[in-house]
Parts: sequence; structure tokens; C-alpha cells
Amino acid sequence: MSTLPIMLQLNGHWDSIEICKDFNVDGIVVNEDSNYSQLNSAITEHLMIDTSAKIIEIKYTVNERCPPMKIRNDMGVRVYMETKKENRSLGMYPLCITVRDFDLECSSILPLAYAVVDSENDTSWMWFFEKFKHAYGEKPNMCVVLDRNESILNATSTVYTSMPHYACMWHIWTNVRSKFKKGHLKLSKLYFATARPYTLDEFNERMSQIEVIDTCFKAYLYDIGYHRWSRVHATVNRTWTMTSNIADSLNAVTKDARELPVVELLEYMRALLEHWTNEKLLKAKGTFTYLGKKIQQRVGGQQDIIAEDEMRASTYHIHTVIDGVKRFIVCLQNKRCSCGQFQLDVLPCAQALAALRHRNESYENYCSPYYTRESLLHTYEIPVDPLPDESKWNVPQHIIEEVVMPPTGKDSQGDLKNKDTIHMMK
Ligand SMILES: [Zn+2]
Repeated sequence: MSTLPIMLQLNGHWDSIEICKDFNVDGIVVNEDSNYSQLNSAITEHLMIDTSAKIIEIKYTVNERCPPMKIRNDMGVRVYMETKKENRSLGMYPLCITVRDFDLECSSILPLAYAVVDSENDTSWMWFFEKFKHAYGEKPNMCVVLDRNESILNATSTVYTSMPHYACMWHIWTNVRSKFKKGHLKLSKLYFATARPYTLDEFNERMSQIEVIDTCFKAYLYDIGYHRWSRVHATVNRTWTMTSNIADSLNAVTKDARELPVVELLEYMRALLEHWTNEKLLKAKGTFTYLGKKIQQRVGGQQDIIAEDEMRASTYHIHTVIDGVKRFIVCLQNKRCSCGQFQLDVLPCAQALAALRHRNESYENYCSPYYTRESLLHTYEIPVDPLPDESKWNVPQHIIEEVVMPPTGKDSQGDLKNKDTIHMMK
């Protein structure tokens, strides 16, 4: 296995022309086939960054004319490695590392439950989902996004019989990489560009490009079922906008804690979630706009993109918007736009915002209530309870009487070492 020396530029700042300045320098050596999690761990371990409270942003510059590239997943790491392999000297393509508070990065994803099990199998997943359903119930528009784990599919199909299943697009890509040996760079760009469009026309166009490059790859994606990985085909909204996987993040954050005995591990998780919940509540309380901060910025950024003279009203509700060479139709009554974003994101797109501006109406009634500051406050208003002193614990008699023996044999010890937390998100 080949390794690559990589220079790290730390704690610099990006100037107005996106050049990293005033940084410290360090270096690491990583395997060429590292994935995102491995690269991330190599950097955070080397720099001794406390990953329970901090997250790192990794960027690099390919040339001075382009803004820096950000590495946020396995694909980003692959693109970087392929670029770096062409010039292996330590100083070429340094990684610029910025350290941030963890909760800023995953403010839109909420962990609902976790469990400690001795291994991931049909029985443990079934137990987990039965308990989860008992606690959380079955709510409208729930869906399951799976990695490649067959046991999750079996358990959720039994416990939630009518809930749609989707495949995690990153995990599909991992499968593709091992199945199709050639042209990863080209295929990956097209695959992700095909998963994300908001309209069928755009999806079909990208799909025919895939067919030209590799018919087997097209057949593979078809067999999985388009609705399982393509945003425009999904029957539950918002599924495909999630670009990071909180389970992987939580697993990364709790990596060292998983070596602890179970009670200490659970207390570590409780304290971590207590910290996150409190931080997010304070942040929501410190937001004074109608929408949460990130979404407000997105709407604000799109508000004046389309000029007044590029739009005309057909009826009170229906507007035609000419955006460059493209023509869009917005229906404010049905909250739809032919670009697809308005109805799938349940948030006005640039064209809808232009139509609303024309009508002199605020966007507030056209956004999903999930995006509002009020929803954020409700989400985090229930605190994670502190753990009282052990002498005050109310432990049922049958638990007190249960004698737990240390694991015996090689296998069970191995299992315990690798004990995994299971996460369920919505
Ligand atoms: Zn639109």
C-alpha cells in the first residue's frame, strides 16, 4: 500500500482572493486509499484536536484562478489523492485545516436514539427498531435511509411495514467503486450530478450521459431503483438534501469513548448530547429572524437574483420568469415552480421569491414550518437530563440482581471492542 506525505497549513485565514495566509505548518503521512474518515482521523489525531467538541474543515487550492476545493466526503478525498499523486512532493497541494465547533456543521440533523449492542445483526436491529417505535411512534413522512446493512432493511421492513426505504447515496457510491474498476472520477461526477437534480428532464439528461460512458453502470443504478437514490424520484421530500451522515459523524466523535465500559460510554454520549442540545438552544435563542440562520441566509442570497423586468404575471398566482436563457413558471397558490426546488425543498426558489416580490408579499407563508426559528426552539426545548449521583439511582430489583460476567473467549472480546452505536435519524 502506497503512502503520501501531505503538508498541513493550520489556523490560517482566507483573504479576499481566497488565498490562505498566516498559517502554521505541519505534516502527516497517509495511505493513498484513505477514505474521509481515515484522513479526518489522521489529521485530528496528529493535531490533537478534541473531536467531541470540534470539527475540521479541509480545503486545498489546485490553482490560483480557482477558489479552494473543500474535502467533505470520500469522493473529495479521492479527487484530492488523484491530484496529489501526480505531484508527491511534500509542499505541493497542502491541506488547509480550519478548526470549528462541531455543532455548527450538523445543526440540521438531530440524533434521536442510540444503542450499544454486541454486534450488528438481525436480532439487535429488530430490538432497536421495536424500542424506537415504542418510544417515537410512526409519524407522517418518515423514511429510512440505509447503508449497505441488510439487517436494517429486514428490521425496518418488519417494524415499519409501509415506510419507504432509500439507499444512502454515499454507500451506493462505495459499492460502485468496488464493482466498477475504471473511470471513477468521471463516473462519480456524473453519479452525484444525477442524484441531485430537482427535475426529471435534468435527471434523464444526466442518465443518458451515464449510458454513453458505461451501460453497465446505468443498468446497476436502474436495478437499485431510481426512487431509492435520486432526489427527484424520492417520494419523501428533503431526504436527499442531507449530504453528511450524522451516524458516521457520531461514530467518529465517539471513537475513543467506545473503548470505555458500557456505563461510562452511555454517560459520555449523554453528556455529549446534553452539550449539543444546550448549544443549539442558545443559538436558536440568539437568532432573531423568522427562519433559522442557515435557511435565512439561503433565502436572503436568492432574493434579488432575478430582476423585475425578467418576470411577468400571467394570473394573480402564476408568473413566468425568464432567467438567462431559461424560462420558468411559478404557481404561488400550489407552491410550485418548474425548476422543482420550490415544491421539493418547501422553500421559495429564486423564481418564487421574484414572483412574491412582484406581488409585494412576504415569503413567510411559503416556507415549511420546519425551517423556522420557532421549530428550532421547540426541537431543543426538552433538555437532556443530567445524571444524578449513583446513590440516587432508582434501579429495578431484577437489574440489581443480574450478574454480568466479563466476556469470555476471543470472539466476544473482539465484539465488545468493536461495539457499535446504532443511530436512528429523522
Ligand atoms: Zn424555481
